[in-house]
Formats: sequence, C-alpha cells, structure tokens
Amino acid sequence: MLQGQGEAKHYSDMYAHLLPPAPPRAGHRAWLASLAAALLPAGRCRLCALPSRAPLCSACQCERPARWRCPRCALALSTPAAGCGSCALRLPAFAGALAWSDYAPPWDRLAAQIKFGDDPALARWLGMLLGQCLRAERPGWAPPRWVVPVPLSPGRLRRRGYNQAWELARGLARELGWPGDCRLLLRRRDGPAQSTLPLARRATNLRGAFVAPPLARGARLLLVDDVMTSGNTAEQAARVLLRAGAGDVRVAVLLRTPVSAPR
Ligand SMILES: [Zn+2]
Ligand SMILES: [Zn+2]
Repeated sequence: MLQGQGEAKHYSDMYAHLLPPAPPRAGHRAWLASLAAALLPAGRCRLCALPSRAPLCSACQCERPARWRCPRCALALSTPAAGCGSCALRLPAFAGALAWSDYAPPWDRLAAQIKFGDDPALARWLGMLLGQCLRAERPGWAPPRWVVPVPLSPGRLRRRGYNQAWELARGLARELGWPGDCRLLLRRRDGPAQSTLPLARRATNLRGAFVAPPLARGARLLLVDDVMTSGNTAEQAARVLLRAGAGDVRVAVLLRTPVSAPR
C-alpha cells in the first residue's frame, strides 16, 4: 500500500495523531443493535414512516429522481449530454462521479440522520445501496485498488464517534467485494464545516486540509462521501490523492445538489 517501509514509518510517525482510532471492539454496539432488531422486528421507513424491516421501504429505495447526470461530476442534467456546463469550463481532478440521489427533500433527511443521528449502521446500509447503484449505473468502472472515505478531522471524529463517509464506504465496499482503507487520506485540521460556509469560502477553507501517504504509483481509487454540493471537497481530496501517486480517482456520493454551484 505504501511505497517503502522507510516512508511508511516516517509517514505514520508524522501523522499518527491524525489516524482514525481503532474500531470499537466488536461487541457492545453490535450487541445493542441486535437487541434493538430483536425488540423491534418491524421498524419504520426513514423517509415515508411506513412499516419496513429495512431502513428504507422498497418503494422509497426505488423512488429516486429520474436523472441524467454529468458522468464527470454527477450534476443533474435536464437532457442526456456528454457533460455539464461546469465541467466544459473546467474539468474536475476526479475522473468520474456517481450519486445515488439528490441532496434535496426528502433525501436530505438521510444525510442529517447519518451525520448527526448517531446511526453508523444506517450509513453502512445506505453504502450498500450506493454500491448497487454503482454496479448498475457505472458498469464501465473498473474495481479500484482501494475505496477511500473523505476523512473527518481528528477533533470532529472524536466528537461524532464515527465518520459517516467511512461507514458508507464500508457498506459499498462490502457490497461490491472491494477493499477499503480509511488511512489513505487524512484531514489535518478542524476548519468550519463546509456546509456552514458560503460557497465562495469553501475552496479556501479546504486549502491544505488533506494529506495522503505516498500511494502505489498509478493506483485507482474510489473516493466516497455523503454529500456533494459545490464539489470542492472531492476536488481538493482528489488533487491530494493524485499528488500522492494515485493514477485515477473517481467519486461516489450518496447525495448530490441538483443545481450547479461554482467550484
Ligand atoms: Zn418508504
Ligand atoms: Zn459535470
């Protein structure tokens, strides 16, 4: 995964404080989840509240907006086209993107639940849906060497207790049988959350935020995140991964804003 032992040691020494904590020992959370499942065999759909054993009922799993999307940045298009106007002006650093649905009502509630609802299991389940969507809608995408989540800063990870993008990535990776690694892209500092900033400040907020170890030269990576709005986060993350040696970075997000925003 890393180019050499020396570099790997140097890197892990330098950025040990940024590495995600070891996953909690199998047990407590899993035990609580299985107890909840046993007590509540018929839950409710998170979108329509009808009884459903799965987090989304089968109708809500299928009722996504019928969209043509820009193959490069996953922006919604009104007609089938080779790309969107934004990508025609300036191509993003990533080579392609996929979104499961729109970052708009009612699906935006899912983003809030996996981010603030202390529900990593829901994020993993939605990652499985994203994996199924990728298999169906991007059949030409070759398996990546690694599935990589957009990282949280150490402080935010500590406060939230999990990274929703890593939980999504785990669900996707398991569904597709691809390897995942949450140590290939790290976030150095705890700036204001992108979602709280005006679009014009989002690019500068992220400058220098990400760091990556030297990667196997030419490695194909799939970057996973919960939401893409302006695309700045994916852009900055992809640039850092490409500078670290990746040959090709593609992006899979659960939700994408349906209107264009400046990058
Ligand atoms: Zn439903
Ligand atoms: Zn585009």
